[in-house]
Amino acid sequence: MKYQPTIGLEIHCILRTQTKMFCDCPNEPEEKEPNRNTCPVCLGHPGTLPTINRKAVESVIRVGLALQGKINPICKFDRKNYFYPDLPKGYQISQYDQPLVLGGELNGIRLRRIHLEEDAARLLHEISGQTKKGEASFVDFNRASVPLMELVTEPDLRSAEETVEFARELQRILRYLKVSDADMEKGHLRIEANVSLNMGPKVELKNINSFKAVGSAIAYELKRQEEVLEGGGTVAHETRGWDEVNQKSVSQRSKEEAQDYRYFPEPDLPPFETEIFSPEELRGALPELPAMKRTRFAKEFGLSPDQVALLVDDLELSEYFEECLSELATRDESASSTVEKSSTVLLFNYLTSDLAGLLAEGGITIRKSKVKPEHLAHLVDLIVDGKIMSRQAKDILKKVFETGTDPEDVMKDEGLETVSDNSELEKAIKEVIYENPKAVEDLRAGKEASMQFLIGKCMGKLRGRGNPATIKEVISKIIK
Ligand code: ADP
Ligand code: ZN
Ligand code: MG
Repeated sequence: MKYQPTIGLEIHCILRTQTKMFCDCPNEPEEKEPNRNTCPVCLGHPGTLPTINRKAVESVIRVGLALQGKINPICKFDRKNYFYPDLPKGYQISQYDQPLVLGGELNGIRLRRIHLEEDAARLLHEISGQTKKGEASFVDFNRASVPLMELVTEPDLRSAEETVEFARELQRILRYLKVSDADMEKGHLRIEANVSLNMGPKVELKNINSFKAVGSAIAYELKRQEEVLEGGGTVAHETRGWDEVNQKSVSQRSKEEAQDYRYFPEPDLPPFETEIFSPEELRGALPELPAMKRTRFAKEFGLSPDQVALLVDDLELSEYFEECLSELATRDESASSTVEKSSTVLLFNYLTSDLAGLLAEGGITIRKSKVKPEHLAHLVDLIVDGKIMSRQAKDILKKVFETGTDPEDVMKDEGLETVSDNSELEKAIKEVIYENPKAVEDLRAGKEASMQFLIGKCMGKLRGRGNPATIKEVISKIIK
């Protein structure tokens, strides 16, 4: 592209707290019953007083610390005035010139600020089966005034891909910090992208509901602006909405009509010192974050960057993996606390392919599964000790997944143990040799393919419980 793309983000994130931002209503924006979680405060009745949700402030401070931001020593809330049916008070309590967090950095992108505000209610323009679009609109105040964090970046991003990666890493950090579910599809994490070429007028993209849409919306918008410039036109400074169905951006409003919000300090909430939230204590209690975990996993477990990324992307999965490893370490009778590389790789494979497949099929998360870390560790041990082959391991895992029974018990109950008893093995092999004279003759004549055929027959007789290498050895001994 001969034009320089410039992208800056404004990201909103619903915080996971017990109660709403300024009242005691439950913070449950997904509550099905409309207007269940409401009170005079969040409905904006005159004469009511807001009180600050401590957990929400702490959450934003923790995000700021995790992203190397500066915690503003003195903060305040401001009223952002505008009218819309989803805003009962006629203003939103937000933070204007003294946000909680200043600066910061993520993936090399500078952050401008992070502040705390309240979410708006939800408007429904139709109720399926009851009303049609255009007939009437409804307001559900369950989401009104739930704590909302807003993070603004500097316009440092240069491509759609870089922006998606930034957003994904931010999501991981929010989840590691346990401040939000940060689910884009559910609207917990909402991303608005400002896009321009050659520092020309910027277009604000709204209505982006997935990471995939972040990528396609920005790519589309960059291309559209390039075409405007190539055609000798100028890009309009406007807000455009992403149309997911038609995969294009559509003009929503021109910035010429930009409204004046008449911000002024919230008179019911005086400015406060952030010191009262003990930021240094919060800093000390920060968990290990994704970047640190990736470095540690690569160093400690000798996994490839892709393997590490797969685990670290998912906090639960990475924690589960480490729990399996410590189970393996304690099971190891040699008492050395380091787990063999081969066991680590086996564990990784069974966790991220076999177990992950079962979880996806069952539509459950790993912590809801009956397969506990000690089960998976035990399964890996059985494989490493040569007690079961991979075919049996997969069957056993399936059974553990269904019943929560220990893998060794499943192995015994179902007779899945690899046959190591030589008499049983030899009996099967001798039968096979007796039943397949032609193949034996071919093998004697040097046809190696016949060996595979005979091994296959033996495995069949042993119902897959044989070790192909041992079988091959025994056949060779008998025949040659
Ligand atoms: P405005 O005054 O129009 O609201 P701001 O400077 O406050 O603009 O920035 C709002 C958002 O737009 C920020 O995320 C910022 O990174 C981004 N932004 C600013 N300038 C540009 C630009 N030239 N191209 C793309 N994004 C930009
Ligand atoms: Zn309320
Ligand atoms: Mg602005």
